[in-house]
Amino acid sequence: MTLGEALLWARAYVDRLDARLLIQSASGCSHSDLLARPEIPLIAPAQAQFMEWVQRRAAGEPLAYLLGEAEFRGRLFQVSPAVLVPRPETELLIELALEKSAALRRSAQILDLGTGSGIVAISLALESPGSVVSAVDLSSAALDVARNNAGRLKASVALVQGDWYAPLAGRRFDLIVANPPYIAADDPHLCGDGLPFEPPMALTDKADGLACIRQIVAGAGAHLMPGGWLLFEHGYDQGLACRNLLQAAGFQDVFTHPDLAGTDRVSGGKL
Ligand code: GLN
Repeated sequence: MTLGEALLWARAYVDRLDARLLIQSASGCSHSDLLARPEIPLIAPAQAQFMEWVQRRAAGEPLAYLLGEAEFRGRLFQVSPAVLVPRPETELLIELALEKSAALRRSAQILDLGTGSGIVAISLALESPGSVVSAVDLSSAALDVARNNAGRLKASVALVQGDWYAPLAGRRFDLIVANPPYIAADDPHLCGDGLPFEPPMALTDKADGLACIRQIVAGAGAHLMPGGWLLFEHGYDQGLACRNLLQAAGFQDVFTHPDLAGTDRVSGGKL
């Protein structure tokens, strides 16, 4: 089979871009090889790998898990099924956190709760010069991915294993950020769109969707400096509930911000 024939075969199962990225990864060929030299033969192991990936992609497995990597804010992050696939809407959390840390006029102490692949902590460490970033996750497999990403991207992030604030007794931060699991256990969204392949602990609290957010809000008082901000991502219909939780916990300047699609996505407040 040649590159051109393999691509033609794959088009019956997956879209053009996915087919191209999978064949490049399986065979090591470049985009220009595909365009200019489609008659290059695909060696047997590469062909077998490509055909397997195409079938798995057609069955709904996220492209990022097949490629082992995904882009976020222009950087390439390693991902595995131990971590969530980076979502573009999470950029909003970064943008808002950068605003808050820039307003500090000193090096910010930042904490990322439930860091997963580390995209939030690493982006903040690289884009908020002088900041000191710590990141927590319960999953040691996720922390391995985050550690590898921090190393490859030369970001300085202190990675700690534990349950939300549990490993941080006595420590306070200027800024706490989180992209917690916020999908309710009975949300049918969990059954589609590649989500069944992702770690359930990163997606759902196995309750009403707000259980982890309640814990994060409740614990923030003991871990924020005076005037510190808590910012977290949440679901499209959770803005009001999140603002209520923040206000009840004594936060001020409580807000919800929509993502680029116009959907409520990040809420936060100042203590
Ligand atoms: N935004 C993701 C989704 O709806 C969920 C991510 C999360 O729970 N933190 O698929």
